[in-house]
Amino acid sequence: MVKIEKAPEGIEGQGFFATSFDKVIGMARANSLWPLPFATSCCGIEFMATMGSNYDLARFGSERMSFSPRQADLLIVAGTISKKLGPVLKQVYDQMAEPKWVLSVGACASSGGIFDTYSVLQGIDNVIPVDVYVPGCPPRPEQIIEGILKIQELARNESLRRRNSEEYKKMLESYNIETV
Ligand code: SF4
Repeated sequence: MVKIEKAPEGIEGQGFFATSFDKVIGMARANSLWPLPFATSCCGIEFMATMGSNYDLARFGSERMSFSPRQADLLIVAGTISKKLGPVLKQVYDQMAEPKWVLSVGACASSGGIFDTYSVLQGIDNVIPVDVYVPGCPPRPEQIIEGILKIQELARNESLRRRNSEEYKKMLESYNIETV
């Protein structure tokens, strides 16, 4: 069944509909997320299931996976990230154009999970900012979908000014991410 996205809030009359630019852009962004799956282990398998016909991520406009960071706007990190891989993950994030969002899938990506060891990054938010965390080891596809819905909510309601704000720039600088 195809569900038509509701129009954003606005003023409607005979033959016209007026709303704000923020709302239209937010609606478009929320429904056309291009994920880049950065999957390293078991959580990646759950993500594959989320992509399959049973869970059908395409329902949310996110079926077009991008393995090129320059076209992606949603970085999905699923799996154990070793400290050696941290700079690689950061480089992928750096190469993505704004606006971009990050979904941390599972205990390992979010906190190192059960691997409290010298070699495992204790959470990807040590190297890049994260927008939504999905708990679980592994999380079920339903939880991953819930995470995507939360990202959609953020994208839909984000002010167009946010990415140029001093607060946002300071947050990126705290991760040693260059701002232009
Ligand atoms: S959180 Fe659990 S299922 Fe996911 S990558 Fe880590 S060990 Fe595997």
